[in-house]
Amino acid sequence: MHQGERMVQCLSLIMILVASGLCVSTPFFTSVKIERTKRPEGLGSSSYVQDLEKLCRINTNGRPWEYIVIHHSATAKGNAARFDHYHRKNRKWQHGLAYHFVIGNGSVSGDGEIEVGERWKKQIHGAHTANMDCNRVAIGVCLVGDFENGGAPTENQLDSLVRLIQYLSRKYNIASSNILQHKEVHQKCTACPGKNFPFAEIKTRLLQIASKGSKHIQEL
Ligand SMILES: [Zn+2]
Repeated sequence: MHQGERMVQCLSLIMILVASGLCVSTPFFTSVKIERTKRPEGLGSSSYVQDLEKLCRINTNGRPWEYIVIHHSATAKGNAARFDHYHRKNRKWQHGLAYHFVIGNGSVSGDGEIEVGERWKKQIHGAHTANMDCNRVAIGVCLVGDFENGGAPTENQLDSLVRLIQYLSRKYNIASSNILQHKEVHQKCTACPGKNFPFAEIKTRLLQIASKGSKHIQEL
C-alpha cells in the first residue's frame, strides 16, 4: 500500500472515530450541567467553608476589637464544649471558654470547623492571655492541637483561620500588625501557638488576599 493511501485510510478512521465520539458525547454536553460552588480565593480544595456572616452574627452591641490573638489548645483533641467545661470546672471562670472561636482538627469537631463561643455571642472580653488589657480588646482564636510538641495544624484549620481572620479584620478594621500569636503578648512566658504554627505563611496569605482585593477595587 502506498504511503499516501495509508494516510488517507488513517485520516478516514480518525474522522469516523471523532464523529462517533461526538454522537455519543453530545447529549451529555447539552443536558448535564455541573453546578460547583465557587471557593473563596486563596483556599485549597478541601476547606471547611462556613457562612461567616451568619456564624459571627451577634445580637448585642459589638466591642471595639483591636487585636486578634491566635492560640493552640496544646491538646491533641478537643472542641469548644470540652474546653468550655475545663475552663468552668478547673479554672472556675464564670464565662467558661476563654476563647471567642475554636477551630477543630477533626478529633471531636470537624476538621477546620469554626465553633463560636459564648464570649463572642455575648461580646464579652476573652480570658485567653494573662494580660487583661489585651483580653478586653483582643479576639481569641484557638486551633485544636499541640503545635509545640510534634503536632501541626491541618490544612483545613489553616484555611478556616485565614477566612476567619480576613472576615474579622475587615469587619472590625483590625490592622495586619495587630494580628498576633499568643507568645507575642508579653505578659507570661508561653510557646503558644507552638513552633510548628506557620505564622509567616498565614500573614503572607492574608496579605495576598488583601492585595487581590485592592487590585480588584482599582480595576472597577
Ligand atoms: Zn495561647
